[in-house]
Amino acid sequence: MKITGDQALVKKINKSLVLDNIRQYAPLSRTQVSQSTGLNKATVSNLVQELIDDQLVLESGQGQSSGGRKPLILLFNKNAGYAAGVEITVNELILILTNLEGEIIAKSTASLVSHQVSDVIAQLQAEVNILLKHLPDSIHGIVGMGVGVPGMVDEQGNVLFAPNLGWEGVALREQLEHLFQIPVIVDNEANAGALGELQFGAGRQAQHLVYVSVGTGIGSGIIIEGELYKGSRGYAGETGHMSVESYGLPCSCGSQGCWELYASELAYDHSIKEPIPGSTTADWVRRAEFDEPESRDLFQKIGEYLGIGITNLVNGFNPELVIIGGHMRQAEPWIDPYLQEVVSRRTLPYHRQKLMIQYSELGDQSTVIGTAYMAVSQFLGRVKVSI
Ligand SMILES: [Zn+2]
Repeated sequence: MKITGDQALVKKINKSLVLDNIRQYAPLSRTQVSQSTGLNKATVSNLVQELIDDQLVLESGQGQSSGGRKPLILLFNKNAGYAAGVEITVNELILILTNLEGEIIAKSTASLVSHQVSDVIAQLQAEVNILLKHLPDSIHGIVGMGVGVPGMVDEQGNVLFAPNLGWEGVALREQLEHLFQIPVIVDNEANAGALGELQFGAGRQAQHLVYVSVGTGIGSGIIIEGELYKGSRGYAGETGHMSVESYGLPCSCGSQGCWELYASELAYDHSIKEPIPGSTTADWVRRAEFDEPESRDLFQKIGEYLGIGITNLVNGFNPELVIIGGHMRQAEPWIDPYLQEVVSRRTLPYHRQKLMIQYSELGDQSTVIGTAYMAVSQFLGRVKVSI
């Protein structure tokens, strides 16, 4: 019988559904998969057999039976392949290798020697090669690479604008796919961080959350109904350039009074009388630990401004959870009381109900765990159907 394109598509969707179900809820029997997906038992059996042939699903032991023969239990084969997660920050290259369930197999961090695109790619290649020495044997090998960058990225993986790296119009995905000969996905670091926290961190129980990455600027990853919201062209989440001061400081984006000037590490140059060139959040945290008044005042101001921007996000998106990530989360003890006070005073009462504000659980690894997850998802979404 000839199968039509529509039938092939339906089968592919059903196969993804079955795989996703087993991945999330295993151990499961075929009957349980049938019940939770709504697909009939024969369809589930066929698709499960294909997934077993692909070695993405394993059959093991015997489950509970309500009578008759005990069913075999299905498990997700989390070690059928591995993904590389990468983050390019202003100062560092952070890399991890994970299995298909996001478990970290190996990791490394290297100081970035230069911001030249060709230098960064060469250094990335050297670091990936070192990391891949830890790659265990598996049926699918390395299934892809996800890369997070501090800038705007389009749907084709081109870095349109990353001011802190000095990059404009860099075809990063294309260059990396050519170099490594594996599928590559490139996204903004805050989008990846939001996915990392949603899947494996502070956002595991949430459906509607905003992840605010606060470092040398501010970017946000917005999750709506469990999915990353990217906007019409993929640029959503540039919240660092929300106007919070009508006649405020000029910003590198061409506007003025942008949120990140007052609430990110950029405030170290703007909010104190005698800025210390090159000072980092770690430096200011150390000073705050010694109760040094200037650092306490600085973090109070940053906390209040973070509260103002978060108020705008809460009133606009009605999330259940806001997660603060990036370097600034290290200052939690000094910024949090002011931030919470501003949010509880300024947000609309209905929006405030059940709202939680937390700090990233994955720390420096929110983005790399998110990018590795993107690569895994892309691989699992490509699972072929036999027709
Ligand atoms: Zn701006």
